[in-house]
Amino acid sequence: MKFNKPLYYCTECKVILPTLDKLLFVEDNSTKGFCSEACIEDFYIPLIRHFESIELDVRKNLGIEEEKINYNFSDKQLVDEILSSPSEVWKASNELEEEILTYIKHYSDFSGVVICKIYNGEASFVFLTTTTKSRQFLAEIRAGEKIDNTLNTDKGDISEEFSEEDFNFMQLLENKKSILLAELLVKRKDDDISFEDFTLYESCFPETLENPDEVFESRDKEGDSFFVYIKSYIKELDNYFYIISCLKRKDAGDSPEVSVFPVLAFPTNDLELYSEFRAGKRIAGHLKN
Ligand SMILES: [Zn+2]
Repeated sequence: MKFNKPLYYCTECKVILPTLDKLLFVEDNSTKGFCSEACIEDFYIPLIRHFESIELDVRKNLGIEEEKINYNFSDKQLVDEILSSPSEVWKASNELEEEILTYIKHYSDFSGVVICKIYNGEASFVFLTTTTKSRQFLAEIRAGEKIDNTLNTDKGDISEEFSEEDFNFMQLLENKKSILLAELLVKRKDDDISFEDFTLYESCFPETLENPDEVFESRDKEGDSFFVYIKSYIKELDNYFYIISCLKRKDAGDSPEVSVFPVLAFPTNDLELYSEFRAGKRIAGHLKN
C-alpha cells in the first residue's frame, strides 16, 4: 500500500478498488461508483421506496389503488419492451444535473411505465415499474421534459442508428406477437399453467435463451423465420417446459450475424403443445440474442 496512488472506492461500502475500471457506474454525469451489484442495490433501495410511496399517494388521490391489468408476458419482458420501444420518454434533471428517465409504452388497453437511471445510453437501475389504464395517472407520472423516443439521453448516437428499417421491424415484431398469442390462446388447454402464475416462471426466460435444451428453426405462413427455444424443467412436483418463440432478423450491413428477438414466451405442462412447437429444423449450438 502506498499514499501516492489514485484512490478509488465503492460509494456504498467504501471498499478500496485497485483501478478505476473495477468500479460499476449507474448514473451519467456522476462520480458515484460501486464495487458490486449488491452495493448498487443497497445504495438505491431507499429511492425505490421513495418512488413507491409517491405512486401510492398519487393512486390514492385518484382512487385507483388497485388496478387490475392483465398482460400475457413476464414482468421482465414488460420492462424490456417499455425500455426498448417506448412510446414516450421523459427526462427530469435537478440542479446537480442528475437525471431520471421515465419510459412509457402504450399498449392497446393499458400503458406501462418504467422510471430509471441511465448510464451510457442504457437503463442501469430501475426505480419503479407500473401499469395503468388511467390518463390522469400518466399525466402525474410524466416528469421533466419530453425527449426523443428512440432512446437515449443526450448522446444521440443510438437514436441515429434507429432507422426506418428498425421501426418497421419493431412493428413486424408487435404484429407477430399478436398472431402467436392468439394462436396460443386457442391451443391452450384449461388445465395448463394459468396466466396468473406466469410471473412465477420468469427466471426460466433468461435460462431458456441462454441454455436451451432444443432450438428449432421454422418459417411461418408469411415466410418469416422463427427460432423456438425450449427448455424442460423436471421438478419433484411438477414438470414443465419453457418455450420462447423468437423472430429472426438479419443484421443490416454485410455481417453474416443473425439476431433473434423474443416474440412470445410461456411455460406449459402440455406435452401436445410442446410437440407442436418442436416443428421445423432442429439446430445445434447457440445463437446471438
Ligand atoms: Zn461496495
